[in-house]
Amino acid sequence: MPVALFTHPACLGHEPGASHPECPDRLRVVLQALEHPDFVPLLRERAPEATHEQLTAVHPADYVADILEIRPPPGEVVALDGDTLMSAGSADAALRAAGGACAAVDAVMEGWARAAFVATRPPGHHAEPARAMGFCLFANAAIAARHAQARWGLQRVAVLDFDVHHGNGTQAILAGDSRLFYGSTHQHPCYPGTGLAAETGIAGNVVNVPLPPGTTGEAFRAAWELQILPALRDHGPELLIVSAGFDAHCADPMAQLRLDTSDFGWITDRLLAVAEGCCGGRIVSVLEGGYDLGALATSAALHVRRLMRN
Ligand SMILES: [Zn+2]
Repeated sequence: MPVALFTHPACLGHEPGASHPECPDRLRVVLQALEHPDFVPLLRERAPEATHEQLTAVHPADYVADILEIRPPPGEVVALDGDTLMSAGSADAALRAAGGACAAVDAVMEGWARAAFVATRPPGHHAEPARAMGFCLFANAAIAARHAQARWGLQRVAVLDFDVHHGNGTQAILAGDSRLFYGSTHQHPCYPGTGLAAETGIAGNVVNVPLPPGTTGEAFRAAWELQILPALRDHGPELLIVSAGFDAHCADPMAQLRLDTSDFGWITDRLLAVAEGCCGGRIVSVLEGGYDLGALATSAALHVRRLMRN
């Protein structure tokens, strides 16, 4: 069964400023890498806009309204905090990013795709219910998890996050619902400062493995193999959602983990194996961070290649 790719040109219209690391070229290089002949079998889908219902399952209605109203004139930006900025096209990009994640859930649940990759921006895992932060406006992965519950009646959904930063927003949304699971490796200390091992949610539905700067692929793999994957299997998810950030790569300027491209292939294979054991291989992967354009492109391409099992 094929793998679907969800994206939308509107996601290039989020322009937080010429020197901002979360730049449109991030998405351009990922999409360019996915033009390789190996990716011809991908089902290429346009990410729809998220519905009000999908957004407000996670974010308060007044927060959603506030974000959607921020539409500065072309060329200007509005700063929500020191590093989260909105341009004329940001609200539309954020709608497509959240909507693409929900549509990807529908694709694997309807069964016409076995897996899906959502190549959109802005990223989402730092967005808290009522607070944009860390380049993130809407909590795309958590919105997709809530959508899977609401639309498909799933009882157990897991979000797995290998971005170098802790997904404080995803955790804030999922930790209080024991039907949901959140597992994350991330650098600590690092932005945003959350994600200590002691943050375990309800009955262990949150598993955080903070990794010190300089951690290599070997320790990263051990963290997943020994700590997160066993708890994930015990949770018995009916759907896996991946917060796929590639900024733990050794070439990335935002943090100091020392993964190489092959580590992203490895984690993709391990998550696929859990999905195959628990839920017929159903897996939705959503792009988060990754700020070295070359490392991002090659790592994301390998991730999608492994999702396609080639
Ligand atoms: Zn990140």
